[in-house]
Amino acid sequence: MPICTKCGGLVSLHEEKCPGCGEHNTDYQPLAEDIQRALDEATSNYQQKKYVLAAQAYQEVIALDPEIFSAYFFLADSLQNLGKTGDAKQAMQAAAALRPGSAPVYYNLGYMNECLGDFTGARAAYEQALKLAENDVNVQNNKDFIKRIKKQLKAVKKHG
Ligand SMILES: [Zn+2]
Repeated sequence: MPICTKCGGLVSLHEEKCPGCGEHNTDYQPLAEDIQRALDEATSNYQQKKYVLAAQAYQEVIALDPEIFSAYFFLADSLQNLGKTGDAKQAMQAAAALRPGSAPVYYNLGYMNECLGDFTGARAAYEQALKLAENDVNVQNNKDFIKRIKKQLKAVKKHG
């Protein structure tokens, strides 16, 4: 995986810009046409809240190319929406491996752990999300997001 020349963060081949600092990725490779088409189809299903179809389509994308961050991220969210939290967590962990600096990934992992009754894991993930959120250029409305993480963190701490 290429490393950002500006901030040293990990960048996937198919990301035009560094997710950490927004710098242009000099190793950027556009997706192959068939993969892009499969990804578009998955995205379209996801946006229409057709989560069964979306999950299937994202799995097809991953079979074609296992390094596409958004495929894992939205596969995880689709599975979570279908109530398959265990599978969702696995997909989100794969997303975390591709983009370890992503605050939203850790926020989602925290939430999934919470749903699974793992409050220790939830707390660790929320704490990581909070740490990353303050430095993530991708996080819009940063303050609101940070507030949300703190609220969840407070709630899981009640569980000990
Ligand atoms: Zn960077």
